[in-house]
Amino acid sequence: MQNLSNIGVIKDILNRHGFTFSKGLGQNFLINPSVCPRMAEMGNAQPGWGVIEIGTGFGVLTVELAQRADKVVCIEIDSRLLPILDETLADFDNIKIINEDVLKVDLQKLIAEEFPGMNVAICANLPYYITSPIIMTILEAKLPIASLTVMVQKEAAQRICAAPGSREVGAVSIAVQYYAQPKVLFPVSRGSFMPAPDVDSAVIRLDVRKEPPVAVEKEENFFKVVKGAFSQRRKTLSNTLSSAFGMSKADVALWLERAGVASNLRAEQLSMEQFAAIANALE
Ligand code: SAM
Repeated sequence: MQNLSNIGVIKDILNRHGFTFSKGLGQNFLINPSVCPRMAEMGNAQPGWGVIEIGTGFGVLTVELAQRADKVVCIEIDSRLLPILDETLADFDNIKIINEDVLKVDLQKLIAEEFPGMNVAICANLPYYITSPIIMTILEAKLPIASLTVMVQKEAAQRICAAPGSREVGAVSIAVQYYAQPKVLFPVSRGSFMPAPDVDSAVIRLDVRKEPPVAVEKEENFFKVVKGAFSQRRKTLSNTLSSAFGMSKADVALWLERAGVASNLRAEQLSMEQFAAIANALE
């Protein structure tokens, strides 16, 4: 089996296949040999489990997943990688590659067909240009998965994992934490990639919740409140909700009174329970 973290091996693959990295597809491949085994281990790749990987690159993480889990299904958009993966993954018979845009794949159907009766996890070094859409699409689909372990930009990791009520919190933190419990697993320096990106990264794991942490009557209202409240971070709820919902400030004041939340607070000061109370008090 080739060592896919070795620069010499990578350069040989690049030359023989005439492969060039696509910046547009977020192709920064891992070359730090310690990262993928840790990601696979901490990402639930284990006997009896199936794993979905998004974006294989040359397969450096794929082989670590396939060595530990029963089956790995990879979704990779770039067809130029297929002949390379034929070569680098040749030793494995438990890997399936789907050449598609992950945002167009019906993951619910894929899991039912590929992993019947199995525990399933998702593990990926995500293309940074669509980190949030991929994470939110997966969480909103309420897939039967235990966890989503992903490499993202360091700043994105901090934002996603920021606690409600903290200075770093944003709409994405609240939205992600409605569906999952996030945790930063370990940092990864920019030098761990080829080509090296301009920013450092971190691996985070989102443990998918069986039930949301707060009782929300209409999820649509909850997410609209969160998005609206964070739309102008420095402004108070009175201002942000009145523009997001097209209401007068007097009506917003009555709404927030019903919810038991002060209208001079800003979104970053609210707890998950307060967001839920505001959404549930919307008439
Ligand atoms: N897993 C490899 C590694 O760690 O070296 C590659 C990671 S690289 C950051 C992101 C990968 O995602 C690339 O292989 C890229 O072609 C693929 N990709 C980009 N956009 C995608 C999409 N919409 N759907 C599926 N794969 C995508």
